[in-house]
Amino acid sequence: MKVLKFGGTSVGSAGRMKAVADLIYNEETKIVVLSAMSGTTNQLVQIAEKLYQNANQEANALIDALHDNYKRVVEELYTSTEKKKQALELIATHFDHIRSFTLDLFTVYEERAVLAQGELLSTALFQFFLEEQGITSVLLPALNFMKIDENEEPDNAYIEKNLKLELEKYPGINLFITQGYICRNAYGEVDNLKRGGSDYSASLIGAAANASEIQIWTDIDGMHNNDPRVVKNTFPIAELSFDEAAELAYFGAKILHPSSVLPAKQKNIPVRLLNTMQPEAPGTTISAQSGGGSIKAVAAKDGITAIKIKSGRMLLAYGFLRSVFEVFERYKTPIDMITTSEVAVSLTIDNPKFLSEITRELQEYGQVEVDKDQSIICVVGDFIAERSGSGLKIFESLKDIPLRMISYGGSKNNISLLINTADKERSLILLNDGIFERNNHNA
Ligand code: ASP
Ligand code: MG
Repeated sequence: MKVLKFGGTSVGSAGRMKAVADLIYNEETKIVVLSAMSGTTNQLVQIAEKLYQNANQEANALIDALHDNYKRVVEELYTSTEKKKQALELIATHFDHIRSFTLDLFTVYEERAVLAQGELLSTALFQFFLEEQGITSVLLPALNFMKIDENEEPDNAYIEKNLKLELEKYPGINLFITQGYICRNAYGEVDNLKRGGSDYSASLIGAAANASEIQIWTDIDGMHNNDPRVVKNTFPIAELSFDEAAELAYFGAKILHPSSVLPAKQKNIPVRLLNTMQPEAPGTTISAQSGGGSIKAVAAKDGITAIKIKSGRMLLAYGFLRSVFEVFERYKTPIDMITTSEVAVSLTIDNPKFLSEITRELQEYGQVEVDKDQSIICVVGDFIAERSGSGLKIFESLKDIPLRMISYGGSKNNISLLINTADKERSLILLNDGIFERNNHNA
């Protein structure tokens, strides 16, 4: 069993959906996980915003416009009048459901129901298309097996048990289609795995089904060694370990949702990142092996806030760090980077929601300084202790960039540097020239 996930652009038009059908048409048993068609979830978010504001007229205009887009997709996707009619009726039910929310109170509960429509639409339309092509497949409702618990964490035991039950209903079937992103929560309500969560769905499904491989199909040929929007001549990395991939996904590589590495890692299932526009390209394989080579890739994450707490009392004091960390725990704010000296500790967060509360509480322990508009540059590779010189290359490349924090040795896979966001693009280019360019991988 393989799990194949196709992202929004891969199913973004009638033409792209047809290409996906070609890719999946073979004898292998598989579960195909689809995102909403590209742009749809953003539009549903906008519709929900209008509904929150009680701006019903504007909401209806947006709903009608989106409905019209889908009518056009139906027109292009199917050939028979019968299938077109069936599909038009289907999309009408979904849009009528969305319109029904203009008549009632709008809360988070209704918002989640609206956001779920994108994946419900894309999978239903795709299933109809396979039917019209005479390809046997079954549409599995993700809401029957995908579930999160009270802490919004996946309920793995439930997912495994219920996915199995669903699959057992269809002996002899080797092609299943299901929705990414959507799930039920602990209260049985329709919920989701947060934006970009279809990758996470695919990985959870892969783990639950004990798949032999999880494939994430997008419109780029794998995880690149640097940000292709900033740096020229980036190239796809052939092999990454689970840990390296998780660091890169978390620190900025947009191609993969960061949470999606863990379920695959726990079951040791390889994850392949592949390109629908170039299906024969090898892409990136993420597995227990790292594939050798010292420095693999560089990624950057913006929107970072650095907080420094300086205290005379820290000198030889035990319990100081715990008190500091407890403040962050109280506000459910994760810390990304930490550096310490004898009299101060600096750390970074990416969610400034409770920054003023946190700062106020930290002032009890010392003098607090806050720097906004920071970026973390994350250099990922296999930095085992014996391998010397990696640090030198990095610092030499960045000799003209002010470094606010450096974190080395936290794991063997990551060297993180904190810089002003204004210096980010220059830093990525300098690192590229200093680390990768001379390897001459001009792919
Ligand atoms: N459709 C959802 C989103 O746009 C989930 C996904 O595509 O992964 O965030
Ligand atoms: Mg995505």
